[in-house]
Amino acid sequence: MDKNWKLETLAVQAGYEPGNGDPRVVPIAQSTTYKYDDAQSVADLFDLKREGFFYTRLANPTVAAFEKKIAALEGGVAAVAVNSGQAANAFSLMNLASAGDHILASAGLYGGTVSLFTNTLKRAGIEFSFVSTKATRAEIDAAIRPNTKAVFVESLGNPSLIVPDFEVFSAAAHAHGIPLVVDNTFPTPVLCRPFDFGADIVTHSTTKYIDGHATSVGGIVVEKGDFDWAASGKFPGFTEPDASYHGLIYTRDFAAMPFTVKLRVQLVRDYGIPMMPMHAFLSMVGCETLALRMERHSANAQILAEHLQKHPKVGWVRYPGLKDDPEYATAKKYLKGCSGVLTFGVKGGAKAGEWVMNHLKLAAIVVHVADVRTGVLHPASMTHRQLSEAEQIAAGVSPDLIRVSVGIENVDDIIADFDQALAGC
Ligand code: PLP
Repeated sequence: MDKNWKLETLAVQAGYEPGNGDPRVVPIAQSTTYKYDDAQSVADLFDLKREGFFYTRLANPTVAAFEKKIAALEGGVAAVAVNSGQAANAFSLMNLASAGDHILASAGLYGGTVSLFTNTLKRAGIEFSFVSTKATRAEIDAAIRPNTKAVFVESLGNPSLIVPDFEVFSAAAHAHGIPLVVDNTFPTPVLCRPFDFGADIVTHSTTKYIDGHATSVGGIVVEKGDFDWAASGKFPGFTEPDASYHGLIYTRDFAAMPFTVKLRVQLVRDYGIPMMPMHAFLSMVGCETLALRMERHSANAQILAEHLQKHPKVGWVRYPGLKDDPEYATAKKYLKGCSGVLTFGVKGGAKAGEWVMNHLKLAAIVVHVADVRTGVLHPASMTHRQLSEAEQIAAGVSPDLIRVSVGIENVDDIIADFDQALAGC
């Protein structure tokens, strides 16, 4: 891999470099285990004294190729692929915080993430509080506590479509000696590279655009590699001996990627959350067209948003690429395109919106977002159903909101579909 390759090239080429006579496409290593000729080799692998594979719960060649591709696209040093986006967010934070610690998150996050934070991780003893995504530096400073171990934001909220001011969040986090974790699912590295704006850890639900074809649930966590864990003084788990690995010190023994190694050998190993080889293969092949797809998703969403905005039956439209959208300026600063998701409300409210959803023909009702096919969803009764009404509003979900995941079909056909459904309501 050439270090100077641009993103479009990395999307196609990075991660797998076949040798002479090897398969051109990354092979699916559908094997739980690996054969060795002598016992010492395996002992050395267990001791992390040499690189290699010994059990797919920890690492697998196909998954490793996928991890390398995404790390290259994000500009990070290494990545760990896991079995869902939920696992990526949960375990990236559990790698930083334990019972008794606190994490500060921005509002307007994906409903499943809010539920994970306010229920499951809370039960594990990690406390979460939320600040506005538009919080000032002073407000963020005031919300960070002595036991805060990370600041968490989404680069483009699902479905709030809010873009945080990364530089303000990262400056505040770093001033307090803690990392900024960014869920970059919606923009993907094609449209946003959070490491360029001060993030330290990036997570993804690879289920979405990275796979891009709705075939595989998966997640990934990427480490930038320059956070100073020792200087922070807040992360003894990184800087002091790990008893479960007879005294390994992550910052000393794996100085280039301590976060990644700790995540893999403690949490992926113990909780058993690896990505499966077949999912890594499908996601890796999907990712080869990521740059092309994100361009088309963004272009189609922009055209549909502008069309809906002019439609007499539509009450409102939100898409950060619209000039009068509240996120237009921040999106211009941080994103190279606004991705494929827009939201809108029909003038007749939630009931009329449901009618429109039921009468779409090309766009399907799906509990999914970010694949090649256009789909719609009503978050209040679906993805955000478990949240209270107040939490839904905080997440940017009004009762009439319809979320459209604009696919890569011909945009004229997508527009015609929405027009015929709106005509009847
Ligand atoms: N993060 C974001 C921004 C999401 O939109 C989602 C799912 O929609 C997730 C995380 C969770 O990902 P998964 O469904 O792969 O567990």
